[in-house]
Amino acid sequence: MTKVNLIESPYPLTKIKGLGPKRLAVLNELNIHTVEDLILYLPMRYEDNTVIDLNQADDQSMVTVVGEVYSTPTVAFFGRNKSKLTVHIMVNQIAVKCVFFNQPYLKKKIELHQMVTIKGKWQRNKQEINGTRMFFQQSNTEEEQFEPVYRIKEGIKQKPLREMIRQVLQDVTIHEWLSDELRKKYKLESLSDTLKALHFAKDKPSLMKARRTYAFTELFMFELRMQWLNRLEKSSDEAVEVEYNITLVKQFIERLPFELTDAQKNSVNEIFRDLKAPIRMHRLLQGDVGSGKTVVAAICMYALKTAGYQSALMVPTEILAEQHAESLVQLFGDTMNVALLTGSVKGKKRKLLLEQLKAGEIDCLIGTHALIQDDVVFQQVGLVITDEQHRFGVNQRQLLREKGAMTNVLFMTATPIPRTLAISVFGEMDVSSIKQLPKGRKPIITSWSKHEAYEQVLNQMTAELQKGRQAYVICPLIESSEHLEDVQNVVALFESLQQYYGEQRVGLLHGKLTADEKDTVMQRFSNHEIDILVSTTVVEVGVNVPNATFMMIYDADRFGLSTLHQLRGRVGRSEHQSYCVLIASPKTETGIERMTIMTQTTDGFELSERDLEMRGPGDFFGVKQSGLPDFLVANVVEDYKMLEVARDEAGELIQSGAFFTDAYTHLRVFIEENLLHTSFD
Ligand code: ADP
Ligand code: MG
Repeated sequence: MTKVNLIESPYPLTKIKGLGPKRLAVLNELNIHTVEDLILYLPMRYEDNTVIDLNQADDQSMVTVVGEVYSTPTVAFFGRNKSKLTVHIMVNQIAVKCVFFNQPYLKKKIELHQMVTIKGKWQRNKQEINGTRMFFQQSNTEEEQFEPVYRIKEGIKQKPLREMIRQVLQDVTIHEWLSDELRKKYKLESLSDTLKALHFAKDKPSLMKARRTYAFTELFMFELRMQWLNRLEKSSDEAVEVEYNITLVKQFIERLPFELTDAQKNSVNEIFRDLKAPIRMHRLLQGDVGSGKTVVAAICMYALKTAGYQSALMVPTEILAEQHAESLVQLFGDTMNVALLTGSVKGKKRKLLLEQLKAGEIDCLIGTHALIQDDVVFQQVGLVITDEQHRFGVNQRQLLREKGAMTNVLFMTATPIPRTLAISVFGEMDVSSIKQLPKGRKPIITSWSKHEAYEQVLNQMTAELQKGRQAYVICPLIESSEHLEDVQNVVALFESLQQYYGEQRVGLLHGKLTADEKDTVMQRFSNHEIDILVSTTVVEVGVNVPNATFMMIYDADRFGLSTLHQLRGRVGRSEHQSYCVLIASPKTETGIERMTIMTQTTDGFELSERDLEMRGPGDFFGVKQSGLPDFLVANVVEDYKMLEVARDEAGELIQSGAFFTDAYTHLRVFIEENLLHTSFD
């Protein structure tokens, strides 16, 4: 997303001092291929080594202190290759004992009466620091006070990587993207200073300042790209009026194995109105998982066929493509010729398929982004549908447009996105929503209990198990952590449930298991060899066990509404009544409100709106799982106010025409190139 021409004149990586072929290979493995990549390889975290006053430090906290060595260090060896070094230092009249485990080499470096800086965990009652690092200066230098920590690999260490980045940032001239006016208006730094600070900020406040500028820059560039594209799409007059045969379409709908829900009917009508009109449809179809979007898509594709047009359905993964192809073949029978084109369709098979497509023998082509390769040519395509559309960024839209395939477009998504956010992220588009599940599905009954009522909840769960059903028990974290001491430890919960129910029937799933182990556990749950699955949120993705009708979410107030909603969606997948019990004793207003909302509604749309309203620091909602565009620094959810500002500013620049003047040539070229050359991920 952020792969850009950042710098003014070319600067090959090989120009960097100390970068030989070996290190270059490692950098490549880290996905660093150009100096731009290197500059944008931001630290994953920063280590704060600012010296503090020991009198003010909390017990058990990480501290950095300066003091004078007043004992000769001693080293004791024990076990295999283990050692403990002990040295005493005087910090502000406080005598502190420092121990360093497994760093015996420090002994040779430490001299009596020398000033050293030590970082470690402060144990007040013992007047002891469990040291992790030692610096041999009187006070640590500025750059050591707030250190960037990069994700690294074998073959490259923190320091040389840091030095390479420092060198590059010193050598190159960085383009300024934002106008002076904009920077002044929103108090933003220059891009050059910003990038330097993102790596080498001297303290947290300067880092936050840099992050703010960079986040705005990313969002602004994104909005410019998208709104420019919207304008190009709107101004080209490739509108297709689809004259479908309504009688045939009605017959098709009647032959479906079920009756459409009212919400599905409404969506079909809205889409058909667009199809018939001499405009290019640009519509988002939203609906929770299981709300029946695929059928709506099928009806539209069928209508296109009756008007003599082909359709394309693009999905983000091969598995999804295969699943869609299967269900569409079932729905269409032999009325439509459906074909599947993914990366694994190759050689002769692919060649034949492309010939048929060009000759108009294929009515509906389903595939991954393999659909937008150069040699994929339709005879006459009248509708492009993308499922989980967020995965198709602006680049894919650009490519489609250039193929002349950007006719009527329908985006489908299962992530209920608040309307304001949807517009900022996807541009002005019409929205159809399926806010209703097919008949016969019972809404999940959600209740909220305090921790004291845990026993009763267990009884409720037992009752479900006795009916032959299965249950999920969800727990926030894998290991108990210092900061969240009161968070139930998933392993402890697992063990206590094993004791309560007997060992055989309780399974454990968490992120630290290998993929194979996870698969095995899921398979066993799916086969009903396990009754209760104790799990962290890893269970969220793509799990379908209809016999599971009970979910208990432990410490539910630790999760955001979106996550709770997605978790809850694991039950309620059969004709049996399902239950979701939230166990939480929230202390904040937000926590209480969140629990209350969950018990009041199962509507993902409403929840997503409320989630955005309530969002505060510490919320667990992740952009990754929502499928919204992902930026290096910006977060469309957390920074959505900023996103709206960026949207307005970008809109202004484009609508006023200023964007198309010479002053913006550089930015235009850059955005254009970026559109064409950023790869799909
Ligand atoms: P999604 O919106 O998640 O893509 P699907 O289209 O896959 O949902 O539909 C989920 C299931 O519901 C499918 O098995 C589909 O056949 C079924 N379905 C869709 N619409 C209806 C309906 N109106 N009545 C009953 N079942 C339906
Ligand atoms: Mg679907």
